[in-house]
Amino acid sequence: MKVEVDQARCGTIGICVKECPEIFRFQEGSKKAVAVIEEVPPRWQAKCREAAQKCPNGAIRITE
Ligand code: SF4
Repeated sequence: MKVEVDQARCGTIGICVKECPEIFRFQEGSKKAVAVIEEVPPRWQAKCREAAQKCPNGAIRITE
């Protein structure tokens, strides 16, 4: 499972960073979130999916 944050859609709301800090961080400067790891380890996949569902901007893209 892979994850990425669409920088054009991310609105700096931070739900993903709060829900799943193992994967999502704010970048210095732009303050938009990024996925710090592209390939999500199995133990974080459920959390990562949940964060994607909660993102109000639909900015988190998951590919299997
Ligand atoms: S929840 Fe969505 S909009 Fe908010 S920081 Fe994360 S990716 Fe960006």
